[in-house]
Amino acid sequence: MRDRASALETAAATPSSTSSVMRISFGTITLPLYRTLAASDRYAAVQQRQFRIQPLRASIQWAQTYNPPMPFDSVLKIADANFPTRWGQFRILGFEGVVANPEPCNESLATPMKRVEAAVALVMGDIHSSPPLVRIHSQCLTGDVFHSLRCDCRQQLELAMGMIAEAGAGILLYEQQEGRGIGLMAKLRAYELQDQGFDTVEANEELGYKADCRVFELPAEMLKMLGVASVRLITNNPEKVAALESVGIEVVERVSAEVASEATFEKYLQVKRDKMGHIDDRQPERVPQRLSS
Ligand SMILES: [Zn+2]
Repeated sequence: MRDRASALETAAATPSSTSSVMRISFGTITLPLYRTLAASDRYAAVQQRQFRIQPLRASIQWAQTYNPPMPFDSVLKIADANFPTRWGQFRILGFEGVVANPEPCNESLATPMKRVEAAVALVMGDIHSSPPLVRIHSQCLTGDVFHSLRCDCRQQLELAMGMIAEAGAGILLYEQQEGRGIGLMAKLRAYELQDQGFDTVEANEELGYKADCRVFELPAEMLKMLGVASVRLITNNPEKVAALESVGIEVVERVSAEVASEATFEKYLQVKRDKMGHIDDRQPERVPQRLSS
């Protein structure tokens, strides 16, 4: 930060450089706004961000900008840093996509005109010389942090991290879409309903939500920004394969994300297979499934 500040001071003393002067103006204005974004009301932050998107586009020094087709107004790479983990050395990259006129997941709730989606990419090794292993993981506070045994999220996350580390290269895309996009509080209410006998799909629908609010457009755009055109996707969810292929990212292989079942989430896995079309890889001869050559 100090280095950047001194660089900005140097730039300020060099009025011939227009772009440097622009960086100063957004350096002083944008950073306080970004802290606000992390700390307070999301919708208000969306309004504030309108002031920072254009200046960010003016500078690609530390925030790369990509202008994909709808639904995103913009996708920004916000940060790129070293990230040592128990599985090995990654880079951690932060991305934000601004979605115009987001489709409501619950018709009874007000939908903002714009929504900011955030996601993280953990990148290990050489991801360009051959199609890398990729996992698109949706945030699950209860599973990822507390090791919940209501679902298999944590096990799938660890499986993917382990596979990437073993291969020496790969990308984990982590989307902040708690509860398949309905949010943490709604997910906990859905848990209450599940305790009363609803399954995971019925509970979401009882609360007015779609069974799955995710569309996986942001991870697809992130892969494009990372220069990755084909992947080996770790998933049992055909919708993730379709989402990537629909935007031109080739899934050369689907790698199973099947984890050992626990009695506490066997019913949850069964509902994912029966109602959400997830692929059943419990028969070993069915994995890995090559989708195209
Ligand atoms: Zn979970």
